[in-house]
Amino acid sequence: MGGLNLKKALKREKVIRRKVELLPEELSIPPELGRIKDKVKVEFQITKEGGKYLLRAKMEGSIILECSRCLKLYEEDLSQNFEVILESYSDLGEEVRLSLRDLNVSFYQDEESVPIEDYIREQIILSVPLKPLCSYDCKGLTEDA
Ligand SMILES: [Zn+2]
Repeated sequence: MGGLNLKKALKREKVIRRKVELLPEELSIPPELGRIKDKVKVEFQITKEGGKYLLRAKMEGSIILECSRCLKLYEEDLSQNFEVILESYSDLGEEVRLSLRDLNVSFYQDEESVPIEDYIREQIILSVPLKPLCSYDCKGLTEDA
């Protein structure tokens, strides 16, 4: 999927609604983070509010992670809803950009080619726990397995 032309799409429709299926190779998640096995399905809508774009999305998919305790590979569910405010890079100074980093704000360079898959990738990366666990009570590496 290429960039989405928000300017053009919003001339025809008030709310942009799309469904996308992203293949593992399109998402290119860093391999040290985890491995996407099947495609990730995302349904999203974009509206323009107060000069900003608001992306609301519903994601379905999963990622294979390595348990930080027992080192087994397991599947972590990525299914979730998320919202991202999209701001133009050029409208903001560096300082503002840094202060917005903690909020759900992402940036685009060109309104006519907005990289939706980048925001999905970001969301997946944010969803991966710092210390992945195959189960809440994982006993770790044990002799008596
Ligand atoms: Zn484990």
